[in-house]
Parts: sequence; structure tokens; C-alpha cells
Amino acid sequence: MTVNLLDLDAAGLTGFFAQLGEKPFRARQLLRWLHRFGESDFSRMTDVAKSLREKLVQVASVTPPALISDRLSDDATRKFLFAVGSGNAIETVFIPEVERGTLCISTQAGCALDCAFCSTGKQGFNRNLTVAEIIGQLWQAKRLLGADPHAQDRVVSNVVLMGMGEPLANLDNVVTALRLMLDDNAYGLSRRRVTLSTSGIVPAMDRLAEQCPVALAVSLHAPNDQLRDRLVPINRKYPLNALMAACRRYLSAAPRDFVTFEYVMLDGVNDRDADARELLRLTRDVPCKFNLIPFNPFLNSGFQRSKPERVRRFAEILIAAGIVTTTRKTRGDDIDAACGQLAGQVQDRSRRTRKTVPLMELVR
Ligand code: SAH
Ligand code: SF4
Repeated sequence: MTVNLLDLDAAGLTGFFAQLGEKPFRARQLLRWLHRFGESDFSRMTDVAKSLREKLVQVASVTPPALISDRLSDDATRKFLFAVGSGNAIETVFIPEVERGTLCISTQAGCALDCAFCSTGKQGFNRNLTVAEIIGQLWQAKRLLGADPHAQDRVVSNVVLMGMGEPLANLDNVVTALRLMLDDNAYGLSRRRVTLSTSGIVPAMDRLAEQCPVALAVSLHAPNDQLRDRLVPINRKYPLNALMAACRRYLSAAPRDFVTFEYVMLDGVNDRDADARELLRLTRDVPCKFNLIPFNPFLNSGFQRSKPERVRRFAEILIAAGIVTTTRKTRGDDIDAACGQLAGQVQDRSRRTRKTVPLMELVR
């Protein structure tokens, strides 16, 4: 069995080289070759002793998820589909903007949380992604985008964990991948430029704050428990008062002094003036910004996007109360790359067991 070096952060690589009887600085060298230069061929790692390079060929590999397809939207959003074995595939989206390039990456094949308006959730859940599969999306994207003649120096300036899956339901692997994103020898991104989005798994929010705080986005979507229980079922386990308290605790460790609340705008469901006013009361003690997301439809979703005028009015109520509120521009919907449209290919392993195993058991 060879070790996939993309599974290891600095500490993991140091341990790996110690087992080979090598010095810790080898970990630093390998991090640079693998992640800064995107090199996968040991024979080209010229400052590594030849005998060690030969040993690495025997005991290690550099195996990112394989690219299946690469599509470009009319608005320059680019969507990659990667194979992660057993007929499963995950999606990664690159969103270029004038001042930054954001990569949206997946953390699970599918998602067990089953939010009512999310196409990933509707597909069911297969498994957690490995570290190599999570960081491998950045590794691959950097390489694929670097081939673009218009690419700038740091093509990916921001990473958001907002693709398929619930990152906090795969905390250990996500934290190791985050450490690689932040490591100066690897991707060197600042904590403020890496945002994790969660539907609100409260104990894991506390663990993230301890282990690797990055910018936090919370998928709120409803101003009260009655509605949120229906839209975001994990709310039945971690209701809004517990979630708001967790946000406040998180902020004491966070690299930013606000939480971003994401709020998908569903026509006639959660988009009334009264809902906006209730949100103001709910979030009164949490320094926050709001990001309104026009609902992106998919087949048989049962929901409709709020009218632009309604979204504008909703935003105005929040803004009038002093909350910075942005409305997310829909990008990449012509190639199904917009929020909540990522479906990949997921061999569902959860539905059959749902009859006997409560849904929440799947979220560990
Ligand atoms: N599981 C995490 C991260 C992935 S989802 C989470 O739920 O936060 C990323 C964002 O897209 C979340 O805010 C999610 O609620 C939103 N989203 C899901 N389905 C959507 C849809 N159909 N239209 C618009 N946004 C959607
Ligand atoms: Fe999972 Fe997030 Fe989709 Fe909910 S919105 S089903 S948590 S990916």
C-alpha cells in the first residue's frame, strides 16, 4: 500500500518522513513541491536527494481525484466534475471576479441533511470525502486554471466550502484540508479568505473554532424554529437559540468579527416583510452580515424563486436596521453550477437505512 501524500498536512508529512528516518525539513520541501508548484512527479523534485526520490516512488503516490468534465458558463464560471470512485462524482466551481477568484469546493459525496430546497440533499448521501479529495479539488483547479493564458498569479484567491456536502459533518478531514490551504508552504491563503458554510451543526462549530478557525457562513434560511425545522431538518437537533449562541462563541475565535448568514429566498415561504423583521430580532445579539441567495430551481423542487422586487424589499428592511446585506448574483446557472444545483453523481447509501436509522445518526 502506498501513502497518498495529498492526504497529509505539514504534521502528517513530518510524521511520514520520521517513519522513513528522514528529517522534518523534508515535509516542508514536499509541501512546496506538491501544493505550491503542483508537482506530482517525484523525479522532478530536484532538491530532494535522489535516493529519497527513489524511495518515494516505492512507498508514496500523489493522487488527486480524476477530472471527468470541465464546463465553462457564459458568465465565465467554470465547473469541474471529479470522479471519487464507486460511480460517485463531485463538483467544484470556479467563480472569477474582477478582484478575486473564488473556488467553491465539495466536502462530501452527497449530503445526509436533506434540506428541502437543495439538490445535493435530494440526491442522498454516499460518503465523506478524504483529505486528498478535498484539497485535491484545489490542487487540480490550480493546475487546470493555470493552463488558462489569461490567468493571473494567484488565480484562486478565495476558497469557499459551499459545494456538495456539509463540511462540519466531515470535520477531521476538512480541518486537515483547511490547514493545507492556510499553510505558507502550500497555498498560503489567509483565514479571512477561506469561508466554511454550515447548516448549523453546533458541537462541530465549537470544535472548528478550537482547531482551525476560518471565516464562517451559516445557512439560516428561516427566522423561527417552526419554519426552519421544515426547511433545514438539522434544526430539530440544534434549534435556533443553540445556533445563535454557537455563532457568538465562534466569533470570539474567528478571523472576522461577523458571521455571514445565508438566506435562500423562497417565494411565499420565507420572504415576507414580517420574516425580515423576525430575523432582526433573532440575530440581535450576533454581529452579522446577510447574504440573500435567490433560490436556484431544479427539477421537482417544489419551490420558486422570490421576485427581484421582493428580494430588494427584504434586503431594505435588513439594511435599514444597520445590517450589511448583499444579494448573491446567480452565476453559472446555465451549466447547473449555481448554489444548490450541484448534483454530481451520488450512489445513495442512506435512503434504505433511513427507515431504521434516524437521519441525525448519519451526522457525526
Ligand atoms: N452544507 C453547507 C454548505 C453547502 S450548501 C450549507 O448548507 O451551508 C451552500 C449554500 O447553498 C447554503 O447556504 C445552501 O443553503 C445554499 N443552497 C442550497 N440549495 C440551494 C438552492 N437550490 N438555491 C440557492 N441556494 C441553495
Ligand atoms: Fe446539505 Fe447544505 Fe444541501 Fe442542506 S443545503 S442538504 S446541509 S449541502
